[in-house]
Amino acid sequence: AITRRPLMAGNWKMNLNHLEANLLVQKLAASLTAQQLTDVECVVLPPFTDLRTVQTAIEGDKLLIGYGGQDLSPYPSGAYTGDISGAMLAKLGCTYVVVGHSERRQYHHEDDALVNDKVTAALAHGLTPILCIGEGLEVREQLRHVPHCCDQLDGALRGLTPEQVTKVVVAYEPVWAIGTGKTATPEDAQEVCGEVRKRLVETYDQATADQVRILYGGSVKSSNVASIMAQPDVDGALVGGASLDGEEFAKICRFP
Ligand code: PEP
Repeated sequence: AITRRPLMAGNWKMNLNHLEANLLVQKLAASLTAQQLTDVECVVLPPFTDLRTVQTAIEGDKLLIGYGGQDLSPYPSGAYTGDISGAMLAKLGCTYVVVGHSERRQYHHEDDALVNDKVTAALAHGLTPILCIGEGLEVREQLRHVPHCCDQLDGALRGLTPEQVTKVVVAYEPVWAIGTGKTATPEDAQEVCGEVRKRLVETYDQATADQVRILYGGSVKSSNVASIMAQPDVDGALVGGASLDGEEFAKICRFP
């Protein structure tokens, strides 16, 4: 049987200063047992300015919580004012980085080619990219969501070896469900996550596709996480708003 360890990743977006970040990590750690943190992988994705503090809290108390950045530069270093490299994230103990979030695609005009470069840069620095894909409302209403998401997937993974692909986490986040309180139904989530895995089988092979973790994101809460996690191709959740509350995010991590 295929066993993919469930992953719950909390995307804090542009929220919480470093003092608030420390409090949230402490609260989260206090709400989860070592067993729970072994059964389910729990990851936080704070703003860059919080990462050093989060590192200190997690390493200092040997907490079984992972962390990562919300974006990275496709370049290794140099004259890129305002950007953060994969090497900088790795040096701070990050193991994950979000790539191609819909808010980056929308507000920073990130296209599939740039997302592809960022995925490649993340892997080059030993970081696990959480590659976000997902359709907007218009595409969904035209029932083009599956080809749209598969195109984004193909574009983002271009040039990677199957071995590299096994290290990528894919997050299906329908844009119309992000921060809107409108969750996709478990069946909607399964439809796209299942088609993504099928696409990975076609492009690579079954063994590669079986190893890739596919998350659902979009208004996930403790009240709806279990039904989404019951779907065969959903291996976890990328959580925005609900990850800012330690108790609530801990509940999400305790979904089983
Ligand atoms: C997100 O932006 O990754 C997200 C899923 O946000 P929310 O949970 O707030 O919809």
